[in-house]
Amino acid sequence: MIELSRALDEIAARLAPLPARRMRLGEAAGLRLAAPVVADTDSPPWDRAMMDGFAVRSPDVSADGAAELEVVADLAAGDASRLQIRPGSCARIMTGAPIPPGSDAVVPIECAVDGSAAARAGGRVRLLDPRFRPGQHVARCGDAFRAGADVLPAGARLGPAAVGLAAEAGATHVVVAPRPRVAILSTGSELVPVEALPGHGQTRNSNGPMLAAAVAGLGAEPVVLGAVADRPEPLRAMVAQGLAADMLLLSGGVSAGDYDLVPGVLAACGVERVFHKVRLKPGKPVWFGVRTRGDGGRTLVFGLPGNPASSLVCFELFARPALAALLGHPPERRHLPRRRARLAAAAKGAEDRPVFAPCRLEGAEGDLRAWPLPWSGSSDLVGLAVADALLALPAGAKRVEAGTEVEVRLLTDGFGRHP
Ligand code: AMP
Ligand code: MG
Repeated sequence: MIELSRALDEIAARLAPLPARRMRLGEAAGLRLAAPVVADTDSPPWDRAMMDGFAVRSPDVSADGAAELEVVADLAAGDASRLQIRPGSCARIMTGAPIPPGSDAVVPIECAVDGSAAARAGGRVRLLDPRFRPGQHVARCGDAFRAGADVLPAGARLGPAAVGLAAEAGATHVVVAPRPRVAILSTGSELVPVEALPGHGQTRNSNGPMLAAAVAGLGAEPVVLGAVADRPEPLRAMVAQGLAADMLLLSGGVSAGDYDLVPGVLAACGVERVFHKVRLKPGKPVWFGVRTRGDGGRTLVFGLPGNPASSLVCFELFARPALAALLGHPPERRHLPRRRARLAAAAKGAEDRPVFAPCRLEGAEGDLRAWPLPWSGSSDLVGLAVADALLALPAGAKRVEAGTEVEVRLLTDGFGRHP
């Protein structure tokens, strides 16, 4: 049995982003860039009207913001008139149209007076814009970025705004750390599918859907292999399938029981064991190893305990940072975000092991209170399902009193922006 910190170091020492891949921008949402996005054009590519109104020459507007002008053109977004605006004239223009040569500012349509707001080409408009300044309501060519500029650096995450910016810069394809494929295999002869009402001795395979949700929530691709009985041959065959993925998550079969066949089968399949058993509650039986595949890639293998709460806590502590690394997230973004909180009620710790128990959080950043949730232990998902965080209680105290400052790990989907 090893310490938690040592287990995390052992995992971290074996992590690297997946080899970068070029893919269509539309398929890369949520992934991290492995190469910068370079703009193929200036943006805006021309001087653009930012309001509906009249494109004017600033010297035509008097110091008090008044002007009376002849309207010589009528420009909608998409129009590309090259008509020169001469002194005393202006163009009616809508947001998103290029401002015509000669003009340098837009006076909003709301500033048309004496009923002249509807004036079109051939008519006259009277304007009064007391706050007028030259250049107003025009986005200049290249204001946002220039052709050839790195608009997004390597390492940036393709959130919605970044996808939009890449599209604006003309990136039909991007180079990213691709979505890891994560095989999920539940083991146990007692397991029945979710659709079945469990008979005597049977247990629903809740870990399968749970781990698939956890994997998908982090932007990786779950490959659900289903459940396999505690018999060496079928287990070996399913493990062999799972080893084609970037990560294999097994649940069950890693404790000390007569039918806990997972460690032996993994060894027989050529998976190098890195550790088995961590001083931790829940999750003590957890197993971790690595296998080098024929294609030179590596499959990270986690044998998670079968008890659902243990399984999920081990996923969050061990598999999450590994997945994050494959996805190209930097070390400080890989783990559940940590916060300090004050215990709002006494909590149950353990003398011999650190405990991770579900809790609810109340209050604002810097003044968080943690309410331990009722929790009967490693098989109990009821509290975890509504928890905001895991209460991290160090080994050494059976009971931790209300008012004690404790560490919590926020349970978040994805890799949020956190310090
Ligand atoms: P094991 O780790 O195989 O000894 O299993 C420990 C406990 O977790 C047993 O009560 C199992 O029935 C239960 N368990 C194992 N796998 C699953 C699963 N996929 N879904 C729900 N419970 C499970
Ligand atoms: Mg079992």
